[in-house]
Amino acid sequence: MTTPHVTRCTDRYFRRAIYGFDPDIVDFPEQALLTGIVQGYCPICLSLADDLHRDSPLRSCQHTAALLETLTLKEMWDNYGVVGDIIPFTADFPRADIHELISVDLLHQIIKGTFKDHIVDWVELYIKQVNEPAEAECILADIDRW
Ligand SMILES: [Zn+2]
Repeated sequence: MTTPHVTRCTDRYFRRAIYGFDPDIVDFPEQALLTGIVQGYCPICLSLADDLHRDSPLRSCQHTAALLETLTLKEMWDNYGVVGDIIPFTADFPRADIHELISVDLLHQIIKGTFKDHIVDWVELYIKQVNEPAEAECILADIDRW
């Protein structure tokens, strides 16, 4: 991962290539496990679990290593959402920071997380608030039919 190797590319030309890891697309529980963060914290930045909207510095293996040298495991867990005794599999590879390799899981985090868990619930609540109960059930049944 540091020394170039002459490789024949798909366009049939030979090039010197340095190999690395591709982004890792996994669901959130596996992201937490791979990056060594506490469930509910962001695997990419240092936002607090209850304040994910604030701009925060990005996580890095270098930052986690600095925390390991100065804090206890409990302080890392409580203050930074880091599980200090989990070592990411990328720790011994050059140019491979697991926090940079994690990619958004479109199915679970965007479609299910945003659409199903928030928008559908909000629309259902809205329909129940602006209609009589029997009418709301009729509308929701009609929506479910589709
Ligand atoms: Zn984040």
